Amino acid sequence: MDIGILALQGAVSEHKSCIEKAGMNVIEVRTPSDLQGLSGLIMPGGESTTLRNLLKNADLWKAIDESNLPIMGTCAGAILIGKGKDETFSKINMEIDRNYYGRQKDSFEKNILMENKEKFKGIFIRAPAIISIGAKTKPIAWVDDNIVGCIEGKNMALTFHPELTNDLTFHKLWLKEL
Ligand code: GLN
Repeated sequence: MDIGILALQGAVSEHKSCIEKAGMNVIEVRTPSDLQGLSGLIMPGGESTTLRNLLKNADLWKAIDESNLPIMGTCAGAILIGKGKDETFSKINMEIDRNYYGRQKDSFEKNILMENKEKFKGIFIRAPAIISIGAKTKPIAWVDDNIVGCIEGKNMALTFHPELTNDLTFHKLWLKEL
């Protein structure tokens, strides 16, 4: 399976190594033609406003918007596939609020609880927060009682950075859906 990683900004090489370790082929996506033949696309963290502008300048915004490509969005990527004040792809019915925890210095690490009650090291970098989710959106990760990850159809949004750990759990969870 070919998995695309949006390679305009952010943690591209880290996601790449996770996907390769999971046994898939990686295509770095910079132009609309790079989307051809992909089974899924990872939208990495970075800065959502910049990412939106870069996507539009590369003609990728429309191409992704009109495609049914399954997306795994982490942090800024999650902001762009949810619903917020600014324009998004709205692939997942969830309201997501950017910079919820404050500034860069308010970044933190905290254990995440998964559905099976196992823990996952949560790295939150100027993270957004999931404020609410729709009836068809399934929560898959929590910190305290707050949802930090969810899945709807083949799209997955995580407010943290699984690619910065050595744990492939969430990448594999998404790949299983494709
Ligand atoms: N705060 C960033 C934004 O608003 C997201 C941070 C991240 O992706 N680590 O886009």
